[in-house]
Amino acid sequence: MIQDGQLLNYIGGEWRRSRAVEFLEVINPATAESIVRVPLTPGDEVDEAVKLAEAAFGGWRRTPPTERIQYLFKLKGLLESHFDEIARLTTQECGKTLGESQGELQRGIENVEVATGIPSMMQGYNAEDIARGIDEQMIRQPVGVVAAITPFNFPAMIPLWFLPYAIACGNCFILKPSEKVPMTMSKVFELIDLLGLPPGVISLVNGAKETVDAFLDHPAVRAISFVGSSQVAKYVYGRAASNGKRAQCQGGAKNPVIVLPDADMEMATRIIADSSFGCAGQRCLASSVAITVGEAHNSFRDHIVEAATARKVGYGLDPGTEMGPVISAQSKQRIEWLISQGVSKGASLLVDGREPRISGYEQGYFVRPTILDNVDPRSDIANTEIFGPVLSLIHVETIDEAISLVNTSAYGNMACLFTSSGAAARKFRYEAQAGNIGINVGVAAPMAFFPFSGWKESFFGDMHAQGRDAVEFYTQKKVVVERWPKEWSRTF
Ligand code: NAD
Repeated sequence: MIQDGQLLNYIGGEWRRSRAVEFLEVINPATAESIVRVPLTPGDEVDEAVKLAEAAFGGWRRTPPTERIQYLFKLKGLLESHFDEIARLTTQECGKTLGESQGELQRGIENVEVATGIPSMMQGYNAEDIARGIDEQMIRQPVGVVAAITPFNFPAMIPLWFLPYAIACGNCFILKPSEKVPMTMSKVFELIDLLGLPPGVISLVNGAKETVDAFLDHPAVRAISFVGSSQVAKYVYGRAASNGKRAQCQGGAKNPVIVLPDADMEMATRIIADSSFGCAGQRCLASSVAITVGEAHNSFRDHIVEAATARKVGYGLDPGTEMGPVISAQSKQRIEWLISQGVSKGASLLVDGREPRISGYEQGYFVRPTILDNVDPRSDIANTEIFGPVLSLIHVETIDEAISLVNTSAYGNMACLFTSSGAAARKFRYEAQAGNIGINVGVAAPMAFFPFSGWKESFFGDMHAQGRDAVEFYTQKKVVVERWPKEWSRTF
């Protein structure tokens, strides 16, 4: 909800103007035009939001799960009837193509669908007669007030990795979306406002670091879900954990794909180009290093150069656009600087996407697909998350060398293999150190009923997002041991 060019927060079931004194401009990255101002909500307003959520918790946790999920059925219907409107907002503030925005919203809706299964997913278990006349049961209860802090690259999908499960399990949920892309969730919250939920069950607080810190330090916030860069993920995990909170913090990535000589090269190239350049390379599951083995090198290189050069770059709302801009001027500058660094360290620039001229969008933050060949595996460009449409090619002679390169990465979000050999696929699946594995798949994104997360520097915590892991994260287990001897009888 916008008032006088400023986004409002949604706290205690109503839209509120923040008392913030600092604001940021939300910029359309294709045009560099300002869309709206977002408040950097101060800590005292976070405190108000948390207190109202806390007040709502008692009643909400007593609402039967079968009733709680009725709100999710309504939410699914509203998201579907406003599908294009939401997707267009995502493209305007985030830059991705309309098709990509629709795709992520669809993934978000699938999480709403899965969370409607909470009445059975949340069940515990029991055992009769653990000793004579004594029974034991495990029940799951909600944890209380929980908060999620989300990144810019999936404004619709990532908040929905958390929100539906959190509330279906009986928690009260507060979202702090990325300050770069707050419009999508503002629109979704206009729909949430129509659900008729008790005030305080779901809230929206805009802001950046100071706002996040207020959540991390608030004693009544019992769990934090975070998605963003590794540096911030580690910080949020440490601060939340030291304050006694549950935390699941997903970080950055540097995803390798291995191409074996027996791969279907045409298919591999098409899929890897989509993985590397889709969403302008701003996916945590984007492949950014292709490791070719043996004679795969020349053929893959020629095909991928062709695919990179042919990609149609422009404004995501214009029909036919295959790749939009990156998120900001700073991001464009950083990506172009990293490309120059790679070249200065000896990589050959096969396709140079720096400083493109996109007709009609000269002010936009565009970088075209870029391919660097003969990249040194120890160089910065091979190990730094670029978060742009840049693919580095590394050449090795054996699959063992390739897997060893995959496993030396500090990150472990995703690793993919392209091959027609079942034996190679099994070896890779078994040995690769990453949370998501693709076999002839370039973006191995788990469906809503599978857990989503990475390993190593890509994830801090235990329980992943989505599906059963979300239920584990948003509930605490309680074990009850009861003695009812057979000899006892009613005495009244
Ligand atoms: P970011 O870390 O800059 O910001 C993420 C969130 O943290 C935002 O809401 C932001 O307001 C907040 N934040 C930023 N700096 C903070 C600080 N110092 N203290 C407290 N909070 C702070 O990330 P981004 O640029 O929005 O998103 C891109 C990153 O997210 C990439 O590294 C990408 O790989 C990662 N990502 C990971 C996954 C995953 O599933 N592992 C998914 C999507 C994105």
